[in-house]
Amino acid sequence: MARYTGASCRMCRRENLKLFLKGDRCYSDKCSFERRSYAPGQHGQNRFRKVSDYAIQLREKQKVKHMYGMLEAQFRRYFKIADCAKGVTGLNLLSMLERRLDNVIYRLGFASSRDQARQLVRHNHFQINGHKVNIPSYQVKAGEVITLKEKSRKNAFIIDNIEGVARRGVPSWLELDKGKFQGTVNAMPNRDEITMPIQEQLIVELYSK
Ligand code: SF4
Repeated sequence: MARYTGASCRMCRRENLKLFLKGDRCYSDKCSFERRSYAPGQHGQNRFRKVSDYAIQLREKQKVKHMYGMLEAQFRRYFKIADCAKGVTGLNLLSMLERRLDNVIYRLGFASSRDQARQLVRHNHFQINGHKVNIPSYQVKAGEVITLKEKSRKNAFIIDNIEGVARRGVPSWLELDKGKFQGTVNAMPNRDEITMPIQEQLIVELYSK
């Protein structure tokens, strides 16, 4: 699946929010957003631009899309599925994004960013309930157990990542057993466990036009 390969830090500056796309760098003083917290480009420091409702909705969609490392076509496909499913569309969409395997690997702390998580999944480092799964968009289900493969347990940067997970914490719908290099999906994610500032209703409004 294609993915955005441009400058990640520009996206944080564009959305005026730290999206934590670059692992450890995001927590260091090298973070571009900390140093230049205004939008990129020639008019980036012009704070007095009038912003339409459409622009607000568009920015919210772009923010979430970039946060989860997705391109437009795939994101729109997720929206369509969320819209057709039972329940509240915005919540369905967030739940689907959170249950992506690459996001779960990131949330559990095996990777320092979703990009890195996607690469680890692609490179066959994980099993689900004992079976190889190398599809980053795989949707995890309650009760599934995600295990780091035996031969990957000496990988220095994965170990560093696991040690560093306390910095951001593991959400309560997931459970990490550091000793066993495994994570369990205890339940489906709740809205209040998605702590990044997201107004999913704006995305629904944008796509419903
Ligand atoms: Fe965003 Fe991380 Fe870059 Fe900071 S270092 S601007 S949080 S991607």
